[in-house]
Amino acid sequence: MQLFKTYWKDDGLMGKARDELPWPAFNDDMKTQVRNDFRDTMEWIARIIMGSEKRFRALHRDGDMPFDPEAESNHLQCHQAEHLINLAKILAERTDDPKTGVGAVIINDKREIVGLGWNGFPTKALYGEFPRASDKDVAVRDKKYPYVIHAEQNALIMRNISDIAGGTLFVTKTPCDECTPLIQMVGIKTVVLGVKLQKERKESIAYSKFEEKVNTERAFVCFEMESAESEMEDASASGIQPAAEKEKASHSGQDKAVAKKAKSERRPSSDSGL
Ligand SMILES: [Zn+2]
Repeated sequence: MQLFKTYWKDDGLMGKARDELPWPAFNDDMKTQVRNDFRDTMEWIARIIMGSEKRFRALHRDGDMPFDPEAESNHLQCHQAEHLINLAKILAERTDDPKTGVGAVIINDKREIVGLGWNGFPTKALYGEFPRASDKDVAVRDKKYPYVIHAEQNALIMRNISDIAGGTLFVTKTPCDECTPLIQMVGIKTVVLGVKLQKERKESIAYSKFEEKVNTERAFVCFEMESAESEMEDASASGIQPAAEKEKASHSGQDKAVAKKAKSERRPSSDSGL
C-alpha cells in the first residue's frame, strides 16, 4: 500500500492525468474509478512480490522427488518454483471470469515450460456468448461454471508436447475434482500450489479428490505455499484498508457506488476457485 500512497498524490500521477490528458469526462466518478483501479493494481503487484518471498512445503516426502523446491540444498528449484508460481499468477489475470482468475504452468521432466493456461471460455468464443457474471449477478452466477475451461485444462489442452509424464504443474489454486483425474492421467506427479491446499467445496465446485490423491493415495507429491493473501489481509487490518475506506467515505453516494462496484469486480478474487 506504500506504493499506492507514494504514487497516488494529487500533485503526482493523478494531477498529471487530470491536467495533461484531454479527458472531457474526467469528473469525480472517473477519478474514483481510476483511483480504485490504480490501488487494485498496486495491491496486485504487492501480492505477487510478497508471494515470491514465500517458501514451499511438501505435504508428504516420499521416495524420488524429481522437483523439490523445499529441500534445503535446492535453492535453484525453490527460485524456479517462485518464478513459475508468479508466472501462473500473471496468467490468472487473463481470465474471462470477472470474479476468479486462475493460472497454471506445466513443465516437463527436463524442467522446460510446455504448457500455460488460465480459466476462460473456449477460444474464439464471442464476448457475450457465455454468461460471465460478477458477484452481484446472482441469477447467472452458477451458469458460467459449466462453460469455463479451467486453467489446468487449458494448460493441458494447449501444451506443446504430448509426453509430459513426470512433469510438474504450478497452479494458483487447488485443482478441482474435474481437473484432478486429468492431471493424473497425463502422468504429472508433482503439483506446486500458490496457496494452501483446499479441500472444502466452494459454490458449485468440489475439491475433495485432489486432497485424497495427495494424502491417501499418494498419487501426487504436493507442495503448498504460505498464503500471500492472508498477509495482505493482516496488512489491511493494521491500517491499509481503513485508509482506503476513509477515502471512499469522503466521496458522494454515487462515487461510493462506483468504488463498491470496482471492488466487487476486482479480480482475481481470493474467495473462490475453479
Ligand atoms: Zn478445475
